[in-house]
Amino acid sequence: MLKLGAHMSIAGGVDKAILLGKKLGCEVVQIFTKNSNQWSARPLGEEEIAAFRANRVAFGMPVIAAHGSYLINLCSADSVLYRRSLEAFRHELERCEMLGIPYLIAHPGAHGGAGEKEAIARLTAALEAVFERPAGCSVMVLLEITAGQGSSVGHRFEHLAEIIGRIREPRRLGVCFDTCHAHASGYDMRTEDGYSRTFEEFDRTVGIERIKAFHLNDCKKEVGCRIDRHWHIGRGFLGLEPFRLLMNDPRFDGLPAFLETPKGPDYAEDIRNLRALRRLAGDPVTKRVPRKLRLLPGSRVKAGSLARTASASAPLGAFRAAATSRKDPGALERKRG
Ligand SMILES: [Zn+2]
Ligand SMILES: [Zn+2]
Repeated sequence: MLKLGAHMSIAGGVDKAILLGKKLGCEVVQIFTKNSNQWSARPLGEEEIAAFRANRVAFGMPVIAAHGSYLINLCSADSVLYRRSLEAFRHELERCEMLGIPYLIAHPGAHGGAGEKEAIARLTAALEAVFERPAGCSVMVLLEITAGQGSSVGHRFEHLAEIIGRIREPRRLGVCFDTCHAHASGYDMRTEDGYSRTFEEFDRTVGIERIKAFHLNDCKKEVGCRIDRHWHIGRGFLGLEPFRLLMNDPRFDGLPAFLETPKGPDYAEDIRNLRALRRLAGDPVTKRVPRKLRLLPGSRVKAGSLARTASASAPLGAFRAAATSRKDPGALERKRG
């Protein structure tokens, strides 16, 4: 079974993301190591780093992934943006190294009209450059399959294969398989047959062992739409079947998998989506919960249908909450990538 988690906010410090994830029943979490919409970042303090590392041990969360900033475009034909992206990416790798985060998940980038071939050449040159320095950095870059929106590259398995094939240090590269993106770019996994064919094709072109993490998102649009719209598990055009197959696929046993689905300030949707996934794996974790629970300061959660998550035996205990939640786009660090 996959190890399940979600993208978590780092409001209040990177260490808080682990606490929050644990409360919601995550076994793994994905974070930004800085504000994802800004180039600059305040340096990580020693205390924050120590708290982060301590929380990881205390809550048994060894695998954590960071998601790269949306501003970075390692394919850019604009030399200023390209250089800036390269420096920012190097900086993110350094932050991951400091925090002991093994994976930095990155979108390959967009060519902006220059063409895929040129974009892939620029991207591989950028990766070679960041892998050279700092020496001894062991963080693995996971290239994410993209939805094929606009001029983005990485929406065909062949793109990923070519990038990995060109790199001198391929052991520093892996793949993050985003279910919504693969669906949007035209890989049809809605039936057992389609699922098998998709991963057979991936294995033939890239090699299935390159998949080190998943983004589990349903898609709000039809297969091949080339539009990146994440949606709740089982409620979009992917439906439950591909997630059932993934949850029970022994080839992916133990790999980290993160939700990047929309959520309100009380995270009720994350709890629901995690529960939906665990049900598909036959994990008997659903129980009724107390009438009211305080999940986060200021956010009341209402009971009834809520999940007792897999964190039942974890230090923070099971966090069982059903929540009444509305979308509050301003209240949360949003994750769309
Ligand atoms: Zn996306
Ligand atoms: Zn993703």
